[in-house]
Amino acid sequence: MNGNLTFTMIKPTAFKNNNAGAILKMINEGGFIIKAMKLTLLTPELAGDFYAIHKGKPFYESLVEFMSSGPIIAAVLEKENAVEDYRKLIGTTNPENAEEGTIRKRYATSLQQNAVHGSDSDENATLEADFFFSKFERF
Ligand code: ADP
Ligand code: MG
Repeated sequence: MNGNLTFTMIKPTAFKNNNAGAILKMINEGGFIIKAMKLTLLTPELAGDFYAIHKGKPFYESLVEFMSSGPIIAAVLEKENAVEDYRKLIGTTNPENAEEGTIRKRYATSLQQNAVHGSDSDENATLEADFFFSKFERF
């Protein structure tokens, strides 16, 4: 059975471009309930830890630099089949291939600066939510 939680970040460029409100509206209209949320700024160390799974890939260093370049919004989202449904709402990693009406199609500015993060599995959703939020910050 699929879980009902996923984790997202509104990435620095999308936040800087004032697209956070529109993205959160799409998240709510997509049937997701916000269980936790914060505006924060990752240090390069924290961004490196968060994306450790990509260590060694050609884009890792620049991804870490980008993700620590400005504030982000982190959130835990609830919905039935959350991980899969959220990946559908955000669209493909490369926004050029993303379907019309997806968050990345609308708000990404490049492959790296693709507006939002979305967990890729229930296991990672739990790890990522725990990375950002204590139990006192989740409702
Ligand atoms: P997703 O965010 O769709 O799960 P990945 O986990 O594969 O994608 O990659 C994490 C993030 O790294 C992407 O969202 C994107 O910001 C960046 N990224 C992935 N592949 C590339 C690439 N080839 N060049 C630059 N940035 C990339
Ligand atoms: Mg991923």
